[in-house]
Amino acid sequence: MSDTPRMQPFYCPYCGEQDLRPADPAGFHCQVCDRRFELTFLGLGEGA
Ligand SMILES: [Zn+2]
Repeated sequence: MSDTPRMQPFYCPYCGEQDLRPADPAGFHCQVCDRRFELTFLGLGEGA
């Protein structure tokens, strides 16, 4: 699945800062609050 383009978050969901870097092996690392996280696409619509 490595050919799927990753979504790039603009803001850290925890502290709201924008200083995000790609993390190894996956996800993003917030330089400000030192949290790593990953965005997951759950599908379209409101869900069940
Ligand atoms: Zn943060």
